[in-house]
Amino acid sequence: MQKRCSCGGQMTVKLRTVLFSGKVEIDNVPIFCCAACSQSEVLAEVKPDLTQLIEGLGDEPDKQTIAFEACNEWANLLLAVEAKPKSAEARSVEQMLEQRVNQLLDLYLLAQSLSDEAWMEELERRLAQLSKRTIHT
Ligand SMILES: [Zn+2]
Repeated sequence: MQKRCSCGGQMTVKLRTVLFSGKVEIDNVPIFCCAACSQSEVLAEVKPDLTQLIEGLGDEPDKQTIAFEACNEWANLLLAVEAKPKSAEARSVEQMLEQRVNQLLDLYLLAQSLSDEAWMEELERRLAQLSKRTIHT
């Protein structure tokens, strides 16, 4: 996953800890970083979720650490890609994405059969995160 920086350099995705209000640490936020000019920007795909998360903290948040991968599917997916052993590098982000979507759809069918509406809503939200846009490589 790469993106061209405004300086012409190549930007690659890294999972970083973002500090908010000097108190709240948000772990594993996917960020594009440029190797040439060290500019960085949050992935467009995760921006709405990150904004929502920060808004939910209010003006005076308590000191805490939040695992972003627990509330965002892209962070979850990229963390899984990063954690895989180097020898298994053949598995691309696209394959992991497809696998994750299938997994969520299986869970959705299960939630549906249990008539668990809260769970169905949660799964719909997660599926929407992944299907909204695809990352261009
Ligand atoms: Zn740059």
